[in-house]
Amino acid sequence: MAKMTVLKYPDERLRKVAQPIAKVDDSIRAVIDDMFETMYDEQGVGLAATQVDVHQRLFVADCSEDQNEPLVFINPEITKAEGHFKNDEGCLSFPGVYAKVERAETITVKALDKNGEEFSMNAEGLLAICIQHEIDHLNGKLFVDYLSPLKRERIRKKLEKEQRLAEKFASEAQ
Ligand code: ZN
Repeated sequence: MAKMTVLKYPDERLRKVAQPIAKVDDSIRAVIDDMFETMYDEQGVGLAATQVDVHQRLFVADCSEDQNEPLVFINPEITKAEGHFKNDEGCLSFPGVYAKVERAETITVKALDKNGEEFSMNAEGLLAICIQHEIDHLNGKLFVDYLSPLKRERIRKKLEKEQRLAEKFASEAQ
């Protein structure tokens, strides 16, 4: 297993639309293992393939308190969405940024698991938010797209500045 690099906003690759996965094979399962390692290492609750520059319809999640309930969703599709719910969201592609986003409160999602078997599950609360957030990633959509242009611009500037500082620091440390 190997840790992957998570793309940071405003990297344009985060805007790519991911392609459906035709066959769930060992190469996909290797990507899944690396994505879990990356997500747990970065203390995230979800990670979409798009975020690690793999443009296939796949995400991993673990919204349990003890981070011991790994979930894999391949070619996910929301088949039912009900209610409205607004909560703070963060994202590994936006370090240190949190913003309130409105989502459906309860959803039903259909996907393939890591063995290529189809399953369907109901989700609410944090998991429902996470699933909607990750499916957005696969469509090149980001949680800041729900905010006002002004707020989004402020976040872009903040992250660009932090990335410049990090690069400067890295080059000086060499
Ligand atoms: Zn995200």
